[in-house]
Amino acid sequence: MTNLLEQQPRALVDALLERDVPRVMLLGCGAIVPSRVSDPRFEWLAGFLANPCHEVYDHEALFLAAGTESRALFGAFVHKTQRGQAQGGVRNWNYDTVESFLRDGLRLSVGMGRKCALADLWWGGGKAIICPQDPPRDRDARRTMFREFGEFVTSLRGIYITAEDAGTTPHDMEVIHRHTRFATCIPERFGGSGNPSAMTARGVVRAMQAALDHKGLGDLADKQIAMQGAGNVGSFMIERLFEAGVARVVASEIDEERCRMLAARYPGHFLEIRHARPGDQAIFEEPCDIVCANALGGVYDAKTIERVRATVVCGAANNPLADERRDAQRLRERGITYVPDYVANRMGIVACSNEQAGSLPGDPYVERHFDGPGGWAHSIYNTTRAILEHADREIIATTAASEQLADAATNVPHPVWGHRAHDIIEALWREGWADERD
Ligand code: NAD
Repeated sequence: MTNLLEQQPRALVDALLERDVPRVMLLGCGAIVPSRVSDPRFEWLAGFLANPCHEVYDHEALFLAAGTESRALFGAFVHKTQRGQAQGGVRNWNYDTVESFLRDGLRLSVGMGRKCALADLWWGGGKAIICPQDPPRDRDARRTMFREFGEFVTSLRGIYITAEDAGTTPHDMEVIHRHTRFATCIPERFGGSGNPSAMTARGVVRAMQAALDHKGLGDLADKQIAMQGAGNVGSFMIERLFEAGVARVVASEIDEERCRMLAARYPGHFLEIRHARPGDQAIFEEPCDIVCANALGGVYDAKTIERVRATVVCGAANNPLADERRDAQRLRERGITYVPDYVANRMGIVACSNEQAGSLPGDPYVERHFDGPGGWAHSIYNTTRAILEHADREIIATTAASEQLADAATNVPHPVWGHRAHDIIEALWREGWADERD
């Protein structure tokens, strides 16, 4: 079979559907371990994944399948699993090429592993992607796609645990959950933890406090904050910031209705809500102490960084740097302290990661993530301080410092299960997951 990397994902779906069972599995697909592919016709995948310049990092396995009814492409990307089963949300997204689909899954699963490790959660790094080709034409078609995805997750025997991510809704999670027990972030009425946005906002504010302390700039009282996006997380964050005594919040928001609603919500506080058009990045030029991206990723690039007038960059948005390495370095050279996204915004995964352990009001296992100095060593505050100090000591960007600390933590084996997750992967391989009918 020819290499399909530059083709649309539907070409990979067609190739998978030509098989008796529309699945293919890659084992040990990182830059270090040589890969094995379940079907020699897909050898080109192993070639791509073995190339270190493709930003692949020691992935233990990659599972691909096509939905026979939905014709959607499903991918489960399993990074290192020493700490436990691979955990990470499912992104329902379209990609132009097979290569961009693979790259995104590989990159996101590494990020999840680092996020879990720094949060001291006993999970490995995982991510799934549903690439639907054509958007499902109605509610039933959407349900079919998520049912097939749930069955795909079940077939992996728990090596990957799914959760909500971009393009998925609580209702989709409900459908997935009906077809696999390996799902978290399910709605509260099914015993899940519900919307984590308030906790995420609280966590980001903790990271801001750590960055200010690190720079010797005192606490949040009387500071000025600029933020892009005042949605779920942003609006809770505004509340938290005023509670902490912030003097002024300027927020840009593209949703006019939301602008009106928020403008009236905080009488007695200096909140300026600016209606922005998509693509308007003027908020990043606002004179302030902390600038915060709470909407989209990829917003800090050479152009915006040049204009940032804050001393700290810290927000909820995933992957806010357009180019992780170069832009982190640019911020460092300008003397701006960048708190890596997955350190500040961990509370989404923390909130849902232990749903199986039952729920407890004011759960100490959750609350400790908000501890301040002298509290739990892995709290958001203490992790942020450790990363910023490591970056200063080693004279490196904060992203490089957090990667170093996180990568060391991803190698720590699970205290009960050891590296059992990898045994599950090996068993799936031995027993012919890619050729078996459920
Ligand atoms: P949301 O969709 O509720 O809020 C985003 C807001 O940004 C919306 O109100 C939208 O209108 C606005 N927006 C979009 N583009 C904009 C632009 N160009 N300028 C100004 N405003 C713009 O999403 P959310 O749940 O608040 O999450 C925000 C970010 O944080 C996302 O990147 C998300 O991936 C990330 N995140 C969220 C959580 C969570 O718990 N919700 C956890 C981790 C990470």
